[in-house]
Amino acid sequence: MHLNFKDIYYLLDFYAYYSRIKKDCTLANEIWCLKAIFAIEKYYVEAFYKLKRDNFYGAWCTFGHVETIYKNLFKHYNSTLDEFKINSIYEYTKQFQKIFPYTLFSSVELKIDKFKCNICGKERISYKRVCNHKIGELYCGKLCAQIPEGITVINDSLVENPMDKCTVPFINGIDTYDYGKIKTLISALDSPFDDWNFEITETSKTHSEFKHISGDDSCPCGSGKIYSECCLNKDEIIIKHLEFYVNKPIEEIEKYNHYYINKKM
Ligand SMILES: [Zn+2]
Ligand SMILES: [Zn+2]
Repeated sequence: MHLNFKDIYYLLDFYAYYSRIKKDCTLANEIWCLKAIFAIEKYYVEAFYKLKRDNFYGAWCTFGHVETIYKNLFKHYNSTLDEFKINSIYEYTKQFQKIFPYTLFSSVELKIDKFKCNICGKERISYKRVCNHKIGELYCGKLCAQIPEGITVINDSLVENPMDKCTVPFINGIDTYDYGKIKTLISALDSPFDDWNFEITETSKTHSEFKHISGDDSCPCGSGKIYSECCLNKDEIIIKHLEFYVNKPIEEIEKYNHYYINKKM
């Protein structure tokens, strides 16, 4: 038997439908959790192969999906045993995210006329609740969310921790980020389930070593900011070095995921 993601989703959709017919909300919620677990695994593997194909921004957004789904799932699924290895996947996702060169994100301030509860359809205009459904709670296999309606963009600013991590700013639409670190890492990894880690060491340099760099150039510290707005006025420049440690795949995870490791995503 060879199962792929499509088959698994198809089966889970079937059971979700079955649970609705049977009005079995416990089963419906369990199916929702299983779907989320498989989505986490699917997106994680997808993100890894996007990195392999140098689609760095795409991989970044896909890792973002892993994070969002994991956080939604976490409240509803007791994962201390980690049978599906999603805790490990989430840890590696966070590690990958740390290697990306993105530090600032666009964030839009929105004016929203009203919200609609996706469970009962009731609308609320102020922050006062009009129904008893809680955001992030599961109701018979459905995750409660407040759907915004009538959105106006008021303001656009740069932030460090955006709501949506996909909002990476590209000047004139061109990707000029330095992906050197992540390229080094991904070339050393064979499978999304290779065990790896990294360590950051710091060395301090004097400004005299960077005489050839003008204040308008990007800062030698690697922050991505302009030299004059970053380290130029500091006593020294701290250069961070990344060291990667890559081990062989964890056998157990390898075995568990054998059916999609070597598949083209
Ligand atoms: Zn409601
Ligand atoms: Zn700097």
